[in-house]
Amino acid sequence: MPDCLFCKIAAREIPATLVFEDEQVVAFKDINPKAPTHVLVVPKKHLDRLSSSEDEDSPLLGHLQRVAVYVAGQLSLKDFRLVVNNGRGAGQTVDHLHYHLMGGRPMQWPPG
Ligand code: 5GP
Ligand code: ZN
Repeated sequence: MPDCLFCKIAAREIPATLVFEDEQVVAFKDINPKAPTHVLVVPKKHLDRLSSSEDEDSPLLGHLQRVAVYVAGQLSLKDFRLVVNNGRGAGQTVDHLHYHLMGGRPMQWPPG
């Protein structure tokens, strides 16, 4: 396993507040939330970033979005934002693909 924070959270080696888990995905609360609800939706498969995905990952990427919709519903979010930061210049700080699921306050556009 790569020495990776989110791989370790997915493997339950580092604690996190999980809100969803299945065979392919974990979702857990962001440790430094930027909205009243801020959940990270994370594949158990290690991918450095979205642009590291390949055609064979398409079902997984679709599933991640479906999980985000499901978790949003579970958390009673009607409106939400789903964000991927791809690369340092886009704000990515953890090199394991994750979708930010954020809601519970009005969102501005464009994001900073
Ligand atoms: P990025 O900046 O890569 O798009 O997002 C990484 C996110 O991971 C940040 O929102 C950050 O707060 C969150 N994060 C970093 N370390 C931890 C941790 O140990 N546990 C949890 N639950 N979230 C973390
Ligand atoms: Zn990883």
